[in-house]
Parts: sequence; C-alpha cells; structure tokens
Amino acid sequence: MKAAHMSATAPITPSPSGWNLDHSYARLPAMLHEHLEPTPVKEPRMVVFNHALAQSLGLNGPALAEQPAIFAGNELPDGASPLAQAYAGHQYGHFTGLGDGRAILLGEQITPTGERYDVQLKGSGPTPFSRRGDGRAALGPMLREYIISEAMHALGIPTTRSLAVVTTGEKVFRQESQPGAVLTRIAASHIRVGTFEWAAAHGDKPALQALADYTLQRHYPELATAATSYLALLEAVMERQARLIAQWQCVGFIHGVMNTDNVALSGETIDYGPCAFMDAFDPATVFSSIDRQGRYAYGNQPKIAQWNLARLAEALLPLLHVDEKQAVEIANKAIENFKTTFEGYWLSGMRAKLGLFTEEAEDRALIESLLIWMHEHKADFTNTFRSLGTTSNSMLCDDPAFTAWHAQWQARLKRQPHSVDEVQQRMRAHNPAVIPRNHKVEEALAAAAESGDLSVMQRLLAVLSKPYDASEVPLEYSTPSGLAPGAYQTFCGT
Ligand code: AMP
Ligand code: MG
Repeated sequence: MKAAHMSATAPITPSPSGWNLDHSYARLPAMLHEHLEPTPVKEPRMVVFNHALAQSLGLNGPALAEQPAIFAGNELPDGASPLAQAYAGHQYGHFTGLGDGRAILLGEQITPTGERYDVQLKGSGPTPFSRRGDGRAALGPMLREYIISEAMHALGIPTTRSLAVVTTGEKVFRQESQPGAVLTRIAASHIRVGTFEWAAAHGDKPALQALADYTLQRHYPELATAATSYLALLEAVMERQARLIAQWQCVGFIHGVMNTDNVALSGETIDYGPCAFMDAFDPATVFSSIDRQGRYAYGNQPKIAQWNLARLAEALLPLLHVDEKQAVEIANKAIENFKTTFEGYWLSGMRAKLGLFTEEAEDRALIESLLIWMHEHKADFTNTFRSLGTTSNSMLCDDPAFTAWHAQWQARLKRQPHSVDEVQQRMRAHNPAVIPRNHKVEEALAAAAESGDLSVMQRLLAVLSKPYDASEVPLEYSTPSGLAPGAYQTFCGT
C-alpha cells in the first residue's frame, strides 16, 4: 500500500482568500484525468454564496462572495490545477464511457482541521469528455442542486455540498433558451463506481490498483493496511451505501438517476438531477420523466444500490484474487450481504421514526402495516410521521384500520422503559417537519430565473436549514404539492 499521493504538497501558508489547494488526484495515473482549464464566460454574476460552508472550509467568504469570476472559471483560485476526471458508468443498465463532460476539479481544499474536500466547477465548459454536450449548465438545475443538497445536509444525510452558483451572462439551449450558470460543488471526493469501471474496462490493472489504494487512503485509511484491503474496501463502500440508501428511504428521498457514475465511494449523495422528495407514500413514485420503466423508483432504490455495488465488485475482481473464479466467489459473497446490511439500517431508522429505543422481532411487521395503510390512504410521508409524534390519536384519524394500528403501536411503546417525553423527542429528531416540497422548490427557481428575485429561495433555504424544528416552519412549507397552504392539517382523508 503506497500512500504517496496523499502526502503533503499543500502550501503551508493559505492565500488571503483562504485557498489551500492540494492535488492528490492529479498524481494518480494519467488515464484517470485530463488537465484543462475552465472556459471563461461573458459576465459572471454571483447568485447565491454559502457563507457557512465557506467558513468551515477555511475560506474567506466575505471576500470570495465578491469574486464571481472565480466561481465562473474566468479566474483560477490561488494554487488551482484544474482537471476533468475520466470515468465510465452503467446508465439505465447499459455500460458507457463518460467522464466530466461539463465539470472541472480545481483542486482539493485542505481545511483548517486538515480535512480534504474537492472543489469542482459544474457547467464550466466543454472537456474532452463532453461528447455532443455543450459543457454548460442552466441556472434552474444548478439552483435546484444547491437547494436540495443543502437540505439533505441539514437533514443529516451525507451529501456533496454547494458553495456558490453564478450566472454566466450567456444563454444555454435545452428545450428553450435559459440563463447559463456554474455551480461550485464541494465533495469528500468525486470518486465514483464508474471511475473504477473506467480503469477496469481499459484492463489497466496498475491504474485500478492505484485508484483503489488512493480511495482506501482517502476515505477508509483504517483499512489500508488490512491483509485483504480491497475486499475490505468493497465491504466498507457497501456499508456506507446501505446506510445512505436507508437514510434516503427514511425521509422519502428519490435520487432519480442511480447510474453507477452517480454513486460516490465516499458514501455521499451525489449528482442531483431529477431527484425529489415523495409527498403521498407510494413505493412506485418516480420523478424523472425519462425513467419510464420506474427503474429508479423509491421502492427500487435498495435493489439498485446492490446492483451498482455488484458493478463495483466486478471492476475490483483483478484485485480480489489472482484466480478469477475465486475472485468472483469472494465478490458474490460480499454483495449478497447488502440486503441484510441495508435492512439493519432501515429498521433502526424506522424504529427511531416511531420512537422505539428497544428492538422486538415484530417491529418490522408494525412498521410495514403502517406503510401499507399509508399507501392505501395516500398519506403524506413526511407529515404522517411528524404528526404521529406530536398529535393525539383522535386528532389524527378515525379510520378503524388506523386506530387499530395506533393501539398496537402504543402498546409497543409501553413495553419499553422510556417516557412519553423521551419518545416524542426521539421522534422529533428523526421525523423532519419540513422537506424541500416540489412546489416550493419550483416557486423559488421560477422567481430566481424569471425575475431575478432571490428572496423566495433565501426564505426556502432558511426554513430547510432547520428541518427538525417545527417552530420555524410556516404552514405553506409543510403542505404537500397540489394543495392550498393549510389545507393539509392532518394526514387522514385527504
Ligand atoms: P449526469 O446525468 O449529470 O450524471 O451526467 C451524465 C454524463 O453526461 C456526465 O458524463 C456528464 O458530464 C455529461 N453531461 C451532462 N450534461 C452535459 C453537458 N451539457 N455537456 C457535456 N456533458 C454533459
Ligand atoms: Mg453524473
């Protein structure tokens, strides 16, 4: 195990703006990246800047918020050494060569506490991987990524973050002409399942091994010295994916494009495209208009995660054993464990949502019967769980099936030694009062794109930053899409 990539070449004194960029990824084999600069844009303008995030990265937020040129790629931050990453991926089940077609990594910011984060511009112009694309991004989708990723972070779910969005003063053409924009994304890394698939597909074992060593060193340093460190890597990535997907399921988050190029080895949620939070509970919910088969529907996410991890295992085969047959056996055995690991995380997440501290064998059945009832009654996922912890039974619903379930749940609560207060506190901490509702997100994007009014988005961001604190949530933010604000007081009979 060589750790040379990560050893320090970072500057000792950060720049006045706080930049302290290192370039460990650039020291990996050349087949994994292409060096190139962002393409300058006409007129960079700051739309939104994340001061809290800047501060945690050791950046001088007040100074940088006045320098949109840096976040548009017109100027490079001190010490930047830009590159586009090469990767492949299975998209809707089909293998393709991809790579950063519209993104450029400026470098890795070393924070004052010694953490390492990728600083990436998304929408920064064409790269050798752009294929037929223009390398650009539109304002709406970049603001959407900003809003949803910051909401996920506030919910306590591992995610890439958003530092800034600037407009470019140029138009991009999708179905129609839209304002162009660049998002600055902060990530634990941008190493994807597809990055491993890229090295494996080229039959480049030295590059594959260097990438695996690098990933271990960067995200799982405690495993780097294990005798079977590549199997340990696969298992650790599985563990983090299982936990992540369980967290998604517990808040009703639907990623929408769980292709292998959108699965980060760090365990962070990455690449916010047609993602959304579910309103009425239905496992078949899909938001992406191109996902006609429902491959990436809410209820399929755990299965798809396992499928994606099997692609990672395949790519790692040459490192798992010299004998291919034995390597396949090792990989299969590891991947089979995903379901159990996922269910463990899911069960403990759902127990917490119901205020359970202890474990009983029948808990799964209790949870499932609530979900079945919610599905039948088109109950709002977020509000149902939130009201269970805050409202008395009679105020919730007088449907006999629900009343019977509620009695069972109350009896279960009494079989643990915890007080009502403790139970309610646990439920409030695990059932958000607010999620980014589709209509509120759309309203914020429309105001920003159509009239340059950013106040709607700023209000939304403020509400989403404290999702577990009900006192902060005006009714209009917790009402499901399609209903007038306040029309949804309880979850029954709507
Ligand atoms: P995504 O759906 O955002 O995960 O992107 C899938 C692939 O398409 C990645 O390789 C992107 O870099 C590439 N891509 C998406 N949009 C563009 C664009 N406008 N220009 C060039 N490449 C793009
Ligand atoms: Mg992607």
